[in-house]
Amino acid sequence: MARKFCVGGNWKCNGTIEEAKKIIGLLNSAEVPSEEDVEVVIAPTYVHLSLVKSLLRPDFSVAAQNAWVKKGGAYTGEISAEILVNLGIPWVILGHSERRGLLGESNEFVADKVAYCLSQGLKVMACIGETLEQREAGETMSIVAEQTKAIAAKIGSWDNVVLAYEPVWAIGTGKVATPAQAQEVHNELRKWLASNVSSDVASTTRIIYGGSVNAGNSKELAAEPDVDGFLVGGASLKPEFVDIIKSAL
Ligand code: PGA
Repeated sequence: MARKFCVGGNWKCNGTIEEAKKIIGLLNSAEVPSEEDVEVVIAPTYVHLSLVKSLLRPDFSVAAQNAWVKKGGAYTGEISAEILVNLGIPWVILGHSERRGLLGESNEFVADKVAYCLSQGLKVMACIGETLEQREAGETMSIVAEQTKAIAAKIGSWDNVVLAYEPVWAIGTGKVATPAQAQEVHNELRKWLASNVSSDVASTTRIIYGGSVNAGNSKELAAEPDVDGFLVGGASLKPEFVDIIKSAL
């Protein structure tokens, strides 16, 4: 089965109502490959989810940037998977390195969130990636395998999971991984899935790349056989996001 190209736009902690409307207007009028060929998922802040969902073209989806680790209740400030489902939000990004790094989210905690969100019917973009120190120490593969292993141990099906390989040193730095670097890790991840989960999961799970993707580098990255799309931060707030979506074909 061919893996459908997937492009996520992670707005992070950005955006006024006016800015959100402006970027949505741009996306809605853009001519992009059909949803048969590319899946586009926009992730605004929680408070902008409903606005974005109501205005965004129907062939694009909406994602939250996080969700609570279990059923909602007395967890002040958190948003549960049930609340997202009730709002009609189909996707959630989990384990982003900014949350792992700034908020101390561990592999275990991220894996628990992935498992819980899947159990509630959400589709998950699960983020993994190494720091610069880890890459320089030759630990890239062991780090991403460890992060993936924690998730694999807790989920029964990979059908609704997209793995987002996002090297921490490439996020928001302008230092994009080379196509060869991205391909190498994606291919290793696929081999890891084949050996530790199943060959079917390895061949069908989409592995997308994130970290300083822009209109100038997306085409070359997308040409790599194991790069199945992107998770885009900064450039997802700009008109060039449309060109990144177009690099699917
Ligand atoms: P960036 O962020 O494109 O701004 O590097 C990517 C991400 O954090 O998902």
